[in-house]
This record gives sequence, structure tokens and C-alpha cells, in this order.
Amino acid sequence: MALLEVSGVTVRFGGHRALDGVALTADAGRVTGLIGPNGAGKSTLFDVVSGLRRPNTGRVVLRGRDVTRFGPARRARYGLARTFQRLELFGRLSVRDNLLVAAELGAERRHAARTATEIVDRLGLGEVADQPADALPTGVARLVEVGRALAVSPALLLLDEPAAGLDAEETDRFAVLLRALAADGTAVVLVEHDMALVMHVCDDIHVLDLGKVIAVGPPDVVRRDEAVLAAYLGD
Ligand code: ADP
Ligand code: MG
Repeated sequence: MALLEVSGVTVRFGGHRALDGVALTADAGRVTGLIGPNGAGKSTLFDVVSGLRRPNTGRVVLRGRDVTRFGPARRARYGLARTFQRLELFGRLSVRDNLLVAAELGAERRHAARTATEIVDRLGLGEVADQPADALPTGVARLVEVGRALAVSPALLLLDEPAAGLDAEETDRFAVLLRALAADGTAVVLVEHDMALVMHVCDDIHVLDLGKVIAVGPPDVVRRDEAVLAAYLGD
């Protein structure tokens, strides 16, 4: 059984279908890519999975449980965590305190301080741990955002363009981190524009275009798919 099973999801904004009959699965121990041109519906799909937007039709099943009618907090208790395309850090709090606040929300809140320290180490944030979040370069702030999601030890981690603003070395380290999370058993869903990173790090890729899934498969199949090439070339 997949950890996450989305089926038949349609979301309408007025007359416009941002998502149209979308299916998506994500498994524990795998990195699942979700790619597609701007406006394809990727962030809207994350909103549906995390409970921020109720779909017009369709279901979201998490660990075998239909959570379509659950709110975001209840889904979080089922092990779901996400990051946002627009950063949602507490600007005046230090990096460590941002992680601490997030860890306090997790099941292991008694060990929040230890969790925050582990994440500082794991993400290589030691040098900036005491700096306020709003003083960080974008790339580092994105890592802190990922760290906040990790602080609740999620079973399902949704990442919305986490590598935007990372330099080449940071991106390489981030790829290693994603593989390590999958190796620990996390189901990772990655929305990302950096195709080199996506092709390198994902086990499977779902391609969205204009609200529809146009291709699903491993990276070497998806990158040669005619419909995918056409969507990206815009014809
Ligand atoms: P992506 O993340 O793939 O770039 P989005 O999910 O942000 O795409 O957007 C998908 C489509 O839905 C776009 O056409 C966008 O303009 C539209 N959309 C997204 N959010 C809203 C909203 N709150 N109200 C109206 N239209 C929206
Ligand atoms: Mg988006």
C-alpha cells in the first residue's frame, strides 16, 4: 500500500480547472518528483494533500485512511509535513528557535531542544544557528524551512521548490539529504524546477501540465516522453 494515494482530484477556481482528475502516489523510502510548467497545479496539489484546500472531487488517502475531510492539523498528526514556495519562517527568531518552535509541534515535543540541535547538525546550519531568520540568504532560509518540516519527523514530506536559491554546492548537499531521508523511510514528494536535481534524486516522477498528469515513471523514461517535451517546449 502506498503511503499517499491521491485519486480523481479536481480543483476549480471559478471556471478554471487548476487540477483535473489528478492521481498521485508516494511510497515510503522513495523520492517522488512532481514537475511541470508554471501554473500546472503543483502547489495547488500540495494544498489539497496537506488539507489547506478541499478538492471539488477526488480523495486523499494517507496510510490507508481517507483524510480528504481532515484539516491540516489532523493530517499533520498522521505524519504529514510540508514546506511552502513562499517562505514561512519567523523572521526575528533565530534559526535554532525556528526549529525549536516546529519541534514543539511534533509528537516528540519533550525532546524538542535535542531535535533542533540534530537538525542544525544534519543540515549544516551550525554557523547560522543563532542568527535571526530574516538575516539569512534565501538558499539558507530554504534549508531552515526544510528543517522545520523535518522537526516533526514526518512520514510524508512535501517540498515545494526547496532548492530555489541554493548554489551548486548547497544543491549537491541537499540531494544527499533527500536520499538520506528516503533511506530512513520517509516518503518525499519534491516539486522542483532544477531538472538536473530532479532527474538525479527522484525514483519516480509525475508530470503535471494544465492540471492534468501527462506522464508518470522513472526519470530516464519521463525525460524522453513526447508529451513532456512538448509541455516544456510550449507547443
Ligand atoms: P504551480 O505551482 O504548478 O506553478 P499553482 O498550483 O500555483 O501552479 O497554480 C495552478 C493554477 O491555478 C494557475 O493557473 C493559478 O493561476 C491558479 N490558482 C492558484 N491558486 C489560485 C487561487 N487561490 N485563486 C485562483 N486561481 C488560483
Ligand atoms: Mg507552485
